Amino acid sequence: MSGPVRATDVWRDPTHPEAGPPPGPPPELAVTPSRTADVGGMPVRRALPQRGRRTVGAWCFADHMGPHDVGPDASVDIGPHPHCGLHTVTWLTEGRLLHRDSLGSEQPIRPGQLNLMTAGRGVSHSEESLDWSGRLQGIQLWVAQPEATRHGPAAFEHHDTLPQVELDGATATVLVGAFGGVRSPARADTELVGVDLVLRGPTTHALDPSFEHALVVIEGAVQVGGPDPVGPGHLVYLAPGHDELPLAPMGPTRLLVLGGVPFESPILMWWNFVARTREEVDEATREWNAGSDRFGDPDSPLPRIPAPATPW
Ligand code: MN
Repeated sequence: MSGPVRATDVWRDPTHPEAGPPPGPPPELAVTPSRTADVGGMPVRRALPQRGRRTVGAWCFADHMGPHDVGPDASVDIGPHPHCGLHTVTWLTEGRLLHRDSLGSEQPIRPGQLNLMTAGRGVSHSEESLDWSGRLQGIQLWVAQPEATRHGPAAFEHHDTLPQVELDGATATVLVGAFGGVRSPARADTELVGVDLVLRGPTTHALDPSFEHALVVIEGAVQVGGPDPVGPGHLVYLAPGHDELPLAPMGPTRLLVLGGVPFESPILMWWNFVARTREEVDEATREWNAGSDRFGDPDSPLPRIPAPATPW
């Protein structure tokens, strides 16, 4: 099939009911539940995508991983799998993981560090807990690449440290973009922000009103301009037009702020591929399952994960 991507084509998942129509004009502020899933033996809360909410800026996927006790009998092994048309952004608050990719990268990641992999036309990678034991928690994010870069080369960057700023009532670590007067060196192909906020008390932060924003609470609970506290397992969405973010934590609270200029086009997301048309997804599926050079091969002891059949 060809032609423009319809809104109902944008998110399909065999574990999820058929995506409904878009919800109409975005509400000023909406709190919606994440859904639970299992990734590599680890429970995750998937805050994005949701029915009627496929992207926030270019952010198109947000899995809150854990907390999960990793050990000899409970390793986290995500075998080699492909991506195209997106950046993966990995941020841990506890534990460690080893990233291997088809570019030859072999990069451990710990809390406070950022792994950012650009898929472009194609890349493959694995995530492994190795023989490490302990508690793992973090967030796995994807960012949709714009037309200008999505057919380009793959790349990988690791940031050992990121800019941090002490604000009134909060410590902000800037993963991507700018916040609180500091800017992350991490790659961003569209106007984007991603910030880890550790809250000590009530605080208000300036937002770029041209951005839409989302909050994902990692620990604790927070009031966001309303009486009902929001904890882990939800997505808080703020439409463009907000120029400040009032936060009142109920105790020690940690959350991620994600935002950006509304994405340039609808996306078609299936399995690990971000595309625009079904033909593109069919081609990526065929090429990965045929072992094509397009996605390469990470040097991982884990077995490759085959792409599922497309549902159309
Ligand atoms: Mn991946």
